[in-house]
Amino acid sequence: MNSGATIDGNDVLLVIDVQNDFCPGGALAVPDGDVVVPIVNRLAARFRNVVLTQDWHPRGHFSFASTHPGRSPYETVDASYGRQVLWPDHCVQDTPGAAFHPALHIPHAALTLRKGMDAAIDSYSAFYENDRKTPTGLTGYLRERGITRVFLAGLAFDFCVRYSAEDAQRQGFAAFVVEDACRGIDIDGSVAATRTSLMGRGVACISALAAG
Ligand SMILES: [Zn+2]
Repeated sequence: MNSGATIDGNDVLLVIDVQNDFCPGGALAVPDGDVVVPIVNRLAARFRNVVLTQDWHPRGHFSFASTHPGRSPYETVDASYGRQVLWPDHCVQDTPGAAFHPALHIPHAALTLRKGMDAAIDSYSAFYENDRKTPTGLTGYLRERGITRVFLAGLAFDFCVRYSAEDAQRQGFAAFVVEDACRGIDIDGSVAATRTSLMGRGVACISALAAG
């Protein structure tokens, strides 16, 4: 599959959550998560516009299993906004686990967008928190800069990349997931479910070579 045109000034690369806690040795390691780092670095060099996202939770965040007595990671709880997966404590603000992977090298990235700061709401998507109502402001930022196509890479394919891609498409951008620049967690078939969902919404999954 091909994205159909050369990368230009109307395109942005969203680099999702390439942080220590999502890489091997981290608190919520995505298998082979660090493998994406050199791929993302090379990919980003081809984009004039790059935005980085950073999961950035306060201690005691609602999405942490440790916040819910008697509950374990990967169980679910009912939140006011729907079902929420519980995670190990991860990406706590200003801790080494929340830092970008040390080999991530994208000096021309214009914006680092932090998400998940509200203690009571998780935020998988770079566009909306998990209540689906609270915007991060990214849509306005991209629109004001004339962006029409959003390419996505990073971690994890089946959570934050998925929801960011689906929201990008819903907001009127053409969305492309660069799948070989992503890795997934794969809980209960979530990687296969992600591919099905993306396809159903018209989000293209492409390879890094096909991007541009
Ligand atoms: Zn998180």
